[in-house]
Amino acid sequence: MTTLVIKDLHGDVITEEGNKEILKGVNLTINSGEVHAIMGPNGSGKSTLAYAIAGHPKYVITSGSVTLDGVEITDMTVDERARAGLFLAMQYPVEVPGVSVANFLRTAKTALDGEAPKVRTWVKDVEKVLAGMDLDKSFAARSVNEGFSGGEKKRNEIAQLELLNPKAAILDETDSGLDIDALKVVSEGVNRYSEQGDRAVLLITHYTRILRYIKPDFVHVFVDGRIVDEGGRELADKLEANGYESYVKAAANA
Ligand code: ADP
Ligand code: MG
Ligand code: MG
Repeated sequence: MTTLVIKDLHGDVITEEGNKEILKGVNLTINSGEVHAIMGPNGSGKSTLAYAIAGHPKYVITSGSVTLDGVEITDMTVDERARAGLFLAMQYPVEVPGVSVANFLRTAKTALDGEAPKVRTWVKDVEKVLAGMDLDKSFAARSVNEGFSGGEKKRNEIAQLELLNPKAAILDETDSGLDIDALKVVSEGVNRYSEQGDRAVLLITHYTRILRYIKPDFVHVFVDGRIVDEGGRELADKLEANGYESYVKAAANA
Protein backbone atom coordinates (compact mmCIF):
# COMPACT_ATOMS: atom_id res chain seq x y z
CA MET A 1 0.00 0.00 0.00
CA THR A 2 1.22 3.45 -0.91
CA THR A 3 -0.59 6.74 -0.52
CA LEU A 4 0.82 10.11 -1.45
CA VAL A 5 -1.27 13.00 -0.13
CA ILE A 6 -0.66 16.63 -1.02
CA LYS A 7 -2.76 18.99 1.10
CA ASP A 8 -3.25 22.70 0.46
CA LEU A 9 0.36 23.05 -0.57
CA HIS A 10 1.71 26.54 -0.95
CA GLY A 11 5.24 27.18 -2.09
CA ASP A 12 7.68 29.77 -3.37
CA VAL A 13 10.54 29.78 -5.78
CA ILE A 14 13.57 31.52 -4.30
CA THR A 15 14.93 34.07 -6.77
CA GLU A 16 17.57 36.80 -6.54
CA GLU A 17 14.78 39.37 -6.26
CA GLY A 18 13.22 37.47 -3.38
CA ASN A 19 10.63 34.76 -2.97
CA LYS A 20 7.81 34.44 -5.46
CA GLU A 21 4.70 32.42 -4.62
CA ILE A 22 4.09 29.80 -7.29
CA LEU A 23 2.09 27.05 -5.58
CA LYS A 24 -1.25 28.38 -4.40
CA GLY A 25 -2.96 25.53 -2.63
CA VAL A 26 -2.44 22.18 -4.33
CA ASN A 27 -4.60 19.25 -3.23
CA LEU A 28 -4.03 15.77 -4.58
CA THR A 29 -4.28 12.20 -3.29
CA ILE A 30 -2.65 9.32 -5.11
CA ASN A 31 -3.54 5.84 -3.91
CA SER A 32 -1.74 2.55 -4.43
CA GLY A 33 -1.58 1.49 -8.02
CA GLU A 34 -2.82 4.77 -9.42
CA VAL A 35 -1.24 6.86 -12.13
CA HIS A 36 -2.18 10.53 -12.03
CA ALA A 37 -1.30 12.98 -14.77
CA ILE A 38 -0.90 16.68 -14.15
CA MET A 39 -1.23 18.73 -17.30
CA GLY A 40 -0.98 22.45 -17.70
CA PRO A 41 0.48 25.32 -19.68
CA ASN A 42 4.10 26.44 -19.51
CA GLY A 43 4.94 28.39 -16.42
CA SER A 44 1.94 27.22 -14.41
CA GLY A 45 4.16 25.77 -11.69
CA LYS A 46 4.20 22.06 -12.53
CA SER A 47 7.96 21.68 -12.16
CA THR A 48 7.86 23.83 -9.03
CA LEU A 49 5.41 21.33 -7.54
CA ALA A 50 7.77 18.46 -8.37
CA TYR A 51 10.84 20.25 -7.03
CA ALA A 52 9.09 21.40 -3.87
CA ILE A 53 8.00 17.84 -3.10
CA ALA A 54 11.49 16.54 -3.85
CA GLY A 55 13.10 19.15 -1.59
CA HIS A 56 15.05 21.14 -4.15
CA PRO A 57 16.86 23.98 -2.30
CA LYS A 58 15.55 26.69 -4.67
CA TYR A 59 11.96 25.98 -3.73
CA VAL A 60 10.37 26.38 -0.34
CA ILE A 61 7.09 25.05 0.98
CA THR A 62 5.40 27.82 2.94
CA SER A 63 2.33 25.88 4.13
CA GLY A 64 0.40 22.70 3.60
CA SER A 65 1.62 19.15 3.77
CA VAL A 66 2.86 16.22 1.75
CA THR A 67 2.61 12.79 3.31
CA LEU A 68 3.78 9.45 2.03
CA ASP A 69 1.97 6.64 3.82
CA GLY A 70 1.01 9.06 6.53
CA VAL A 71 4.53 10.33 7.13
CA GLU A 72 5.13 14.05 6.64
CA ILE A 73 8.02 14.53 4.23
CA THR A 74 8.16 18.31 3.85
CA ASP A 75 10.57 18.75 6.75
CA MET A 76 12.86 15.95 5.59
CA THR A 77 16.17 16.37 3.77
CA VAL A 78 16.37 15.26 0.15
CA ASP A 79 18.09 12.03 1.21
CA GLU A 80 15.46 11.31 3.84
CA ARG A 81 12.71 11.82 1.27
CA ALA A 82 14.40 9.31 -1.01
CA ARG A 83 14.73 6.83 1.86
CA ALA A 84 11.06 7.39 2.67
CA GLY A 85 10.35 6.11 -0.83
CA LEU A 86 10.06 9.15 -3.05
CA PHE A 87 11.64 9.39 -6.47
CA LEU A 88 11.86 12.41 -8.72
CA ALA A 89 12.78 12.30 -12.38
CA MET A 90 13.69 15.81 -13.36
CA GLN A 91 12.84 17.84 -16.38
CA TYR A 92 16.45 19.02 -16.54
CA PRO A 93 18.69 16.25 -15.19
CA VAL A 94 22.08 17.29 -13.85
CA GLU A 95 25.43 16.09 -15.15
CA VAL A 96 27.67 14.25 -12.71
CA PRO A 97 31.05 14.25 -14.46
CA GLY A 98 33.44 11.51 -13.41
CA VAL A 99 30.70 9.37 -11.84
CA SER A 100 29.67 6.42 -13.97
CA VAL A 101 26.06 5.35 -14.36
CA ALA A 102 26.92 2.05 -12.62
CA ASN A 103 28.53 3.77 -9.63
CA PHE A 104 25.79 6.34 -9.38
CA LEU A 105 23.12 3.64 -9.28
CA ARG A 106 25.09 1.60 -6.76
CA THR A 107 25.58 4.59 -4.48
CA ALA A 108 21.90 5.51 -4.71
CA LYS A 109 20.81 1.93 -4.00
CA THR A 110 23.23 1.64 -1.07
CA ALA A 111 21.99 4.91 0.40
CA LEU A 112 18.37 3.76 0.08
CA ASP A 113 18.85 0.28 1.53
CA GLY A 114 21.48 1.14 4.12
CA GLU A 115 23.72 -1.61 2.72
CA ALA A 116 25.52 -2.25 -0.55
CA PRO A 117 23.71 -4.50 -3.03
CA LYS A 118 25.15 -7.98 -3.61
CA VAL A 119 27.65 -7.71 -6.47
CA ARG A 120 26.51 -10.72 -8.51
CA THR A 121 22.81 -10.00 -8.65
CA TRP A 122 23.43 -6.28 -8.83
CA VAL A 123 25.38 -6.40 -12.09
CA LYS A 124 22.65 -8.56 -13.61
CA ASP A 125 19.93 -6.24 -12.33
CA VAL A 126 21.68 -3.22 -13.84
CA GLU A 127 22.12 -4.98 -17.16
CA LYS A 128 18.48 -5.99 -17.15
CA VAL A 129 17.11 -2.50 -16.61
CA LEU A 130 19.50 -1.03 -19.16
CA ALA A 131 18.44 -3.67 -21.69
CA GLY A 132 14.82 -2.83 -20.90
CA MET A 133 15.59 0.74 -21.88
CA ASP A 134 17.33 -0.41 -25.09
CA LEU A 135 20.64 0.80 -23.68
CA ASP A 136 23.87 -1.08 -24.34
CA LYS A 137 25.83 -2.60 -21.41
CA SER A 138 28.62 -0.11 -22.11
CA PHE A 139 26.23 2.67 -21.11
CA ALA A 140 26.87 1.77 -17.44
CA ALA A 141 30.47 3.01 -17.76
CA ARG A 142 29.55 6.46 -19.02
CA SER A 143 29.49 9.57 -16.80
CA VAL A 144 26.00 10.41 -15.59
CA ASN A 145 24.22 12.63 -18.09
CA GLU A 146 27.51 13.85 -19.60
CA GLY A 147 26.98 14.11 -23.32
CA PHE A 148 23.78 12.08 -23.05
CA SER A 149 21.23 12.77 -25.74
CA GLY A 150 17.79 13.88 -24.57
CA GLY A 151 16.57 10.34 -25.09
CA GLU A 152 19.48 8.77 -23.19
CA LYS A 153 18.84 11.05 -20.21
CA LYS A 154 15.23 9.94 -19.99
CA ARG A 155 16.08 6.26 -20.55
CA ASN A 156 18.67 6.53 -17.80
CA GLU A 157 16.12 8.06 -15.44
CA ILE A 158 13.62 5.32 -16.00
CA ALA A 159 16.36 2.69 -15.61
CA GLN A 160 17.01 4.32 -12.23
CA LEU A 161 13.31 4.23 -11.42
CA GLU A 162 13.05 0.53 -12.17
CA LEU A 163 16.20 -0.36 -10.29
CA LEU A 164 15.56 1.70 -7.17
CA ASN A 165 11.86 0.82 -7.27
CA PRO A 166 10.60 3.56 -4.92
CA LYS A 167 7.08 3.64 -3.47
CA ALA A 168 6.17 6.85 -5.26
CA ALA A 169 7.51 8.47 -8.40
CA ILE A 170 7.11 11.98 -9.72
CA LEU A 171 8.01 12.15 -13.38
CA ASP A 172 8.38 15.65 -14.77
CA GLU A 173 8.20 15.99 -18.55
CA THR A 174 9.47 12.49 -19.06
CA ASP A 175 8.29 12.82 -22.65
CA SER A 176 10.12 15.99 -23.58
CA GLY A 177 12.73 15.60 -26.31
CA LEU A 178 11.88 11.98 -27.06
CA ASP A 179 11.33 10.51 -30.49
CA ILE A 180 8.54 7.96 -30.88
CA ASP A 181 10.78 4.91 -30.31
CA ALA A 182 12.30 6.35 -27.14
CA LEU A 183 8.88 7.47 -25.95
CA LYS A 184 7.61 3.90 -26.27
CA VAL A 185 10.59 2.39 -24.46
CA VAL A 186 10.42 4.93 -21.65
CA SER A 187 6.64 4.54 -21.31
CA GLU A 188 6.95 0.75 -21.14
CA GLY A 189 9.44 1.17 -18.29
CA VAL A 190 7.07 3.43 -16.39
CA ASN A 191 4.24 0.94 -17.00
CA ARG A 192 6.35 -1.98 -15.71
CA TYR A 193 7.01 0.06 -12.60
CA SER A 194 3.42 1.17 -12.03
CA GLU A 195 1.89 -2.20 -12.84
CA GLN A 196 3.47 -3.67 -9.72
CA GLY A 197 0.21 -2.41 -8.26
CA ASP A 198 1.33 -0.78 -5.04
CA ARG A 199 3.14 2.22 -6.43
CA ALA A 200 1.98 5.83 -6.76
CA VAL A 201 2.85 7.67 -9.96
CA LEU A 202 2.53 11.38 -10.66
CA LEU A 203 3.21 12.10 -14.29
CA ILE A 204 3.67 15.76 -15.14
CA THR A 205 3.36 16.68 -18.76
CA HIS A 206 2.66 19.49 -21.13
CA TYR A 207 1.59 17.31 -24.06
CA THR A 208 -0.91 14.47 -24.27
CA ARG A 209 1.47 12.43 -26.45
CA ILE A 210 2.88 10.27 -23.63
CA LEU A 211 -0.66 9.47 -22.44
CA ARG A 212 -1.10 7.26 -25.48
CA TYR A 213 1.41 4.89 -23.89
CA ILE A 214 0.95 5.52 -20.18
CA LYS A 215 -2.73 5.42 -19.31
CA PRO A 216 -3.48 7.63 -16.32
CA ASP A 217 -6.33 6.80 -13.98
CA PHE A 218 -6.88 10.50 -13.30
CA VAL A 219 -5.99 13.70 -15.14
CA HIS A 220 -5.62 17.04 -13.36
CA VAL A 221 -5.47 20.42 -15.04
CA PHE A 222 -2.91 22.70 -13.43
CA VAL A 223 -3.11 26.46 -13.95
CA ASP A 224 -1.49 29.27 -11.98
CA GLY A 225 -0.26 27.18 -9.11
CA ARG A 226 -3.26 25.00 -8.45
CA ILE A 227 -5.43 22.22 -9.80
CA VAL A 228 -8.44 23.74 -11.53
CA ASP A 229 -10.12 20.67 -12.99
CA GLU A 230 -9.89 16.92 -12.77
CA GLY A 231 -11.31 13.94 -14.53
CA GLY A 232 -10.51 10.61 -16.08
CA ARG A 233 -8.45 9.80 -19.13
CA GLU A 234 -10.98 11.49 -21.39
CA LEU A 235 -10.01 14.87 -19.95
CA ALA A 236 -6.63 14.54 -21.68
CA ASP A 237 -8.40 14.20 -25.03
CA LYS A 238 -10.48 17.26 -24.27
CA LEU A 239 -7.30 19.20 -23.49
CA GLU A 240 -5.70 17.98 -26.69
CA ALA A 241 -8.67 19.29 -28.65
CA ASN A 242 -9.31 22.56 -26.82
CA GLY A 243 -6.00 23.53 -25.20
CA TYR A 244 -5.71 25.29 -21.86
CA GLU A 245 -7.08 28.65 -22.92
CA SER A 246 -10.47 28.49 -21.24
CA TYR A 247 -8.84 27.39 -17.98
CA VAL A 248 -6.23 30.14 -18.17
CA LYS A 249 -8.93 32.76 -18.76
CA ALA A 250 -11.06 31.47 -15.90
CA ALA A 251 -8.03 31.50 -13.57
CA ALA A 252 -7.16 35.06 -14.59
CA ASN A 253 -10.73 36.21 -13.86
CA ALA A 254 -10.95 34.39 -10.55
P1 ADP B 1 6.02 24.69 -15.50
O1 ADP B 1 6.84 23.51 -15.11
O2 ADP B 1 4.56 24.50 -15.33
O3 ADP B 1 6.34 25.16 -16.89
P2 ADP B 1 7.61 26.10 -13.54
O4 ADP B 1 7.32 25.48 -12.24
O5 ADP B 1 8.88 25.72 -14.22
O6 ADP B 1 6.38 25.90 -14.53
O7 ADP B 1 7.61 27.67 -13.37
C1 ADP B 1 6.58 28.36 -12.68
C2 ADP B 1 6.93 29.83 -12.54
O8 ADP B 1 8.02 29.95 -11.64
C3 ADP B 1 7.38 30.49 -13.83
O9 ADP B 1 6.89 31.81 -13.85
C4 ADP B 1 8.87 30.46 -13.74
O10 ADP B 1 9.45 31.51 -14.46
C5 ADP B 1 9.08 30.62 -12.25
N1 ADP B 1 10.33 29.97 -11.82
C6 ADP B 1 10.53 28.64 -11.69
N2 ADP B 1 11.79 28.40 -11.28
C7 ADP B 1 12.40 29.58 -11.17
C8 ADP B 1 13.71 30.00 -10.78
N3 ADP B 1 14.65 29.10 -10.42
N4 ADP B 1 13.98 31.33 -10.76
C9 ADP B 1 13.01 32.24 -11.10
N5 ADP B 1 11.78 31.90 -11.47
C10 ADP B 1 11.46 30.61 -11.51
MG1 MG C 1 -4.77 27.74 0.40
MG1 MG D 1 8.12 22.30 -16.10
